[in-house]
Amino acid sequence: MSRIAVFPGSFDPITNGHFDIIERAVPLFDKIIVAIGFNSEKKYMFSLEKRIEFLQESLKQFKNIEIKKFDGLTVDFCKKENANFLLRGLRNPADFEFEKSIAQINRLMTNGKLETVFLLTSAEKSYISSSIVREIMSYNGDYKKMVPDAVRI
Ligand code: ADP
Repeated sequence: MSRIAVFPGSFDPITNGHFDIIERAVPLFDKIIVAIGFNSEKKYMFSLEKRIEFLQESLKQFKNIEIKKFDGLTVDFCKKENANFLLRGLRNPADFEFEKSIAQINRLMTNGKLETVFLLTSAEKSYISSSIVREIMSYNGDYKKMVPDAVRI
């Protein structure tokens, strides 16, 4: 059975933190599906098309990556894509607390078929988040060291 992982997120926009997790996960899986959530109730800074474009451009060097959009439950999307792993990044204790219950619920909902794999953020990327990048962008600050080159406003 091939190892297919889904890496879900808003990627609004993709940051060097996301990139770090993806780059390190590439050798671990046969295929990684980067899944961009879109939720009509949620306000995003970048449109779905723009978020996809940033991801495609930033990740084009990797051969075993697909970029797809999804809505609804992550477990349903994983089932549809025959993915047996869910990939998440951990930056701090708050991420851990939040991710722990979600991973446990996802295991319960899939009768143990979906395993969540956590990668710890690299130390020098642990402070980066899409929300901080958005804030810096909105005040015309220098965000370029925090995102891949493809992300420009
Ligand atoms: P979500 O809305 O699902 O949190 P994000 O796009 O913010 O979507 O994050 C997607 C995934 O990337 C999450 O697992 C998150 O913990 C991880 N992540 C975000 N920033 C970093 C970072 N700087 N280092 C490691 N992982 C990160």
